[in-house]
Amino acid sequence: MNPPYATSLEGHETSEQDYRLKEPYPPRAEFALPPITLEEHVFRHSGWSAHRRRVFAAMIAAGTGRSALHRFANCGCGAIVERSRDGDYRVKANYCRSRWCKPCAAARAAALADAIRFRLLGKTFRFLTLTLRSSATPLSDQVDRLIRSFRELRRQVIWRETVDGSIAVIELTRSNGCWHPHLHVLITGHYVDQKQLAERWHAITGDSYIVWIKKVGNAQETVNYVAAYASKGIDASVEADHDALTEAIAALKGRRLVITTGAFYGVEKEEEPNDQEPEPDHDYEPYWQPVGTLTAIVHRAKHGSVEAREILAKLRFPWKAYGEPFI
Ligand SMILES: [Zn+2]
Repeated sequence: MNPPYATSLEGHETSEQDYRLKEPYPPRAEFALPPITLEEHVFRHSGWSAHRRRVFAAMIAAGTGRSALHRFANCGCGAIVERSRDGDYRVKANYCRSRWCKPCAAARAAALADAIRFRLLGKTFRFLTLTLRSSATPLSDQVDRLIRSFRELRRQVIWRETVDGSIAVIELTRSNGCWHPHLHVLITGHYVDQKQLAERWHAITGDSYIVWIKKVGNAQETVNYVAAYASKGIDASVEADHDALTEAIAALKGRRLVITTGAFYGVEKEEEPNDQEPEPDHDYEPYWQPVGTLTAIVHRAKHGSVEAREILAKLRFPWKAYGEPFI
């Protein structure tokens, strides 16, 4: 793999002159963040700049609140490079944690995948997909119906007798001008008869038949897939279309994208990256010490500082570090 670190941190190699997103309103003074610098932008957002601008436009169109927009626009600002006593480097910054922000969603997906894998240890599991027949009703109503139907399915005898844990994530796709909301569900427990389950699903929804269920061959891939949708909820067919993206952002606003039961209950709450520091030692010296701002270190590197270049080479780009769970 071609390590992009040393060169792509040099601002002149980006064509992102207008990297700063134009916020429609000034931030409230008490929540104002330092504006993101070009160097911080390159570090956190190079690779999805154009998409980031499209997402931001759709967030505005979907009526996203002022402070959420401000955090999104400045995600990665105030970046400080720190060095550990063991000689590792990391970046600390202000992150927006929006599900629409690629590096933030990637971080959450990676942490959620770890938490799911931990709970799956030693268990066989199956992967189930519940769909709804396409309809022209508003997306938000379709998502409500999907969630309601799934709740009803979990009350059925066939479910209660065979499933001991489930984690369900919503995925919205679009084709031929129609939404196709579905739920991907990882289940652990006993064998479930697909035909019976499909019949129950049809009885509940009244019009939808399709249920896929299969034993999972590649656990790693499946878990990453589920975790990625738990963090964003939409696929590429939606991301590329302003109106569809706007509708998806509005329909998913304030909703959890993950439903957990039984053995998986609460796994999504472990999703926050663990940023805890080791216990302080007897010298009362913090484990991590600030080295300087990311922006200043990039500048020093550009002016020939070997030390600064070495530090940058050791820092990993956010979503590279998280293993690119996006599909
Ligand atoms: Zn972010």
